[in-house]
Amino acid sequence: MSETVSTSQSLGQKRLHIKTYGCQMNVYDSERMADVLRPLGYVMSDAPEDADLVLLNTCHIREKAAEKVYSEIGRLKEMREDKEARGGGRMTIAVAGCVAQAEGAEIMNRAPAVDLVVGPQAYHQLPELIARTTRARGERLMADFAADEKFDKLPVEREVSGPTAFLTVQEGCDKFCTFCVVPYTRGAEWSRPVAQIMDEARRLADKGVREITLLGQNVNAFNGADKSGAESTLSRLIEALAGINGLDRIRYTTSHPNDMGDDLIQAHADIPQLMPYLHLPVQSGSNKILRAMNRKHTRESYIELIARIKAANPDIAMSGDFIVGFPDETDKDFEDTMDLIRQVEYASAFSFKYSKRPGTPAAAMPGQVDDKVADERLKALQALIIEQQQAFKAGLIGRTIDVLFDKRGRHNEQGIGRSPWLHSVFAEDAAHLIGQIVPVKIVALGNNSLQGELIKELV
Ligand code: SAM
Ligand code: SF4
Repeated sequence: MSETVSTSQSLGQKRLHIKTYGCQMNVYDSERMADVLRPLGYVMSDAPEDADLVLLNTCHIREKAAEKVYSEIGRLKEMREDKEARGGGRMTIAVAGCVAQAEGAEIMNRAPAVDLVVGPQAYHQLPELIARTTRARGERLMADFAADEKFDKLPVEREVSGPTAFLTVQEGCDKFCTFCVVPYTRGAEWSRPVAQIMDEARRLADKGVREITLLGQNVNAFNGADKSGAESTLSRLIEALAGINGLDRIRYTTSHPNDMGDDLIQAHADIPQLMPYLHLPVQSGSNKILRAMNRKHTRESYIELIARIKAANPDIAMSGDFIVGFPDETDKDFEDTMDLIRQVEYASAFSFKYSKRPGTPAAAMPGQVDDKVADERLKALQALIIEQQQAFKAGLIGRTIDVLFDKRGRHNEQGIGRSPWLHSVFAEDAAHLIGQIVPVKIVALGNNSLQGELIKELV
């Protein structure tokens, strides 16, 4: 180990370890933080204990996610002491992401081991901030959170790690669901200009990326400026991206039902590169709870919306988000949610127990639901979703579907890829197909995956 230390240091390299919590937008931000730091000589490392800089890219959405950060800081503090004791040099500990944004001052007080706190809008300033955070001088720093033009200042070059990539096109949220911290941690809805996104997408395609997922807290509210300065839409952006050579698959997430315009629904019929999979959170199937959540849609409008989407593209599979145990949720309200799930038939879904977030309107609502009751509801809901998920996958057995192979499997020549509906597909003798989209016959189901066979004459 000491040999590695001296070799990398003699080359002017420093080791960077990033731990990412939460959503795909954080995954994107972590990759971009690595891009920002690469010119300073930072190379990625899987080993926090040897890192010169550890970045925790945090999530504030639920209490558990936020609390994890403090226990991780405790572990890192011990690793740092060990590293310094064995002459491995200093370790800077930085907290980025939404906990940094929401609780910056509290982190500085509660966790003296942290050297630097940087919110999601300020990470393009990391080189300057790190230079100013000199642990030797005992200086600690909290970046100011002025939301200046982060995307204008990020390096245009991105390192890619395979044929799929995330691309953030929109940030923030103006919806103010009563349970959610996002409007407070990520700020108002804001979209990147179309030309900047096109440039990033072209560069990704040039590096072999075949599938991009457009990201935004409310991605379908995208209204970035086009060349003439006029507001564009997500459907127009997707149409333009579909014209990029090599970019064969486009996805977008996460959408709000109220921003699902007719043009975007039509895009699912007209643009073959747009994958037939839509993540469209509903949160609850009870109109009473939806009102209390300030979702601004009803169960009927959601079900009707899905009918229109499926009419445009019958192959489309639905995914969603659900919260159980929201204040004042009765057995009947929960049953309404189960009933909605039965009607929609999801191919997958994320479900959460309501978590009380300080400062959100729901935190002060009467009728907070007993934890045990919420646990039972979550279990029942997840069992139903698993049933539907398995049924959807079972329907694929015997079908030949396009798979984008993106990594090697455990066995020597096994390849793992992605179905159009985001399943992992395993196939023997497919490791040489990484980066390619090939037809695969589905022959069996795994718990979270599909088993496929290559169609020999087509490969
Ligand atoms: N913008 C998306 C939407 O409108 O649904 C979702 C963004 S949020 C990062 C992801 C999911 O976290 C939400 O859809 C919701 O189900 C869940 N979530 C947000 N706040 C929560 C809370 N306080 N407790 C439990 N789950 C929560
Ligand atoms: Fe949160 Fe609602 Fe905005 Fe989604 S739409 S990010 S759940 S406030």
